[in-house]
Amino acid sequence: MPLDRMIEKARRLLEKGRIEHVGDGVYNVVGDHGTYVVARGFDGTVSCSCPGFIKKRRCSHSLAVIFLTRGVTLPTSKGRSK
Ligand SMILES: [Zn+2]
Repeated sequence: MPLDRMIEKARRLLEKGRIEHVGDGVYNVVGDHGTYVVARGFDGTVSCSCPGFIKKRRCSHSLAVIFLTRGVTLPTSKGRSK
């Protein structure tokens, strides 16, 4: 999946409130195909239990948690005036 699409998906997860903080840097993320567990380490790295992350070391769920915990205001690819 291209990074742009992954960011877009992560943003949607945030907007829809699909991320639940279950404690100690652990989050449940309700994805399109199931609920995954994202854990954040002390060094700020995240890991996810989904197959995509296990294969590619990145996914929209872990990205969404990174965005959430950093309080990043995500850029929108659309809606900019002209
Ligand atoms: Zn994932």
